Amino acid sequence: MQNSFLREKHGQLYLVTRTGRGSKRKEKWLPLPETDRDLIEKTLLSKEALKEEIIQFPCMNPECRNTIPMTKSQLEDFFVSSKKKYDMIIMPFCSKECRDKMLEKHGGSIDEYKR
Ligand SMILES: [Zn+2]
Repeated sequence: MQNSFLREKHGQLYLVTRTGRGSKRKEKWLPLPETDRDLIEKTLLSKEALKEEIIQFPCMNPECRNTIPMTKSQLEDFFVSSKKKYDMIIMPFCSKECRDKMLEKHGGSIDEYKR
């Protein structure tokens, strides 16, 4: 497993490469010259743009064949932030009807969980 990302420390930009996992994780900090900065930022921006590619996520109601168009970052956000904020995975549904149908099946509306 290898992961590269940028870190800024005291105004200096570093390319951090993370290898391995768990206790064997290693980080290599490579300082980047100021001149590379523009290029890197542009590269990263295009990478971010790639993330905006729209994917079709299937509705979580098994009886429904609809898909929900969302960007990869939205999807990521959907699962990661709901897990972080509420410590639960929120399932995407194509419509309120599908959501309600599933909630009904599993007892109760979402409002009851909020209480
Ligand atoms: Zn649906």
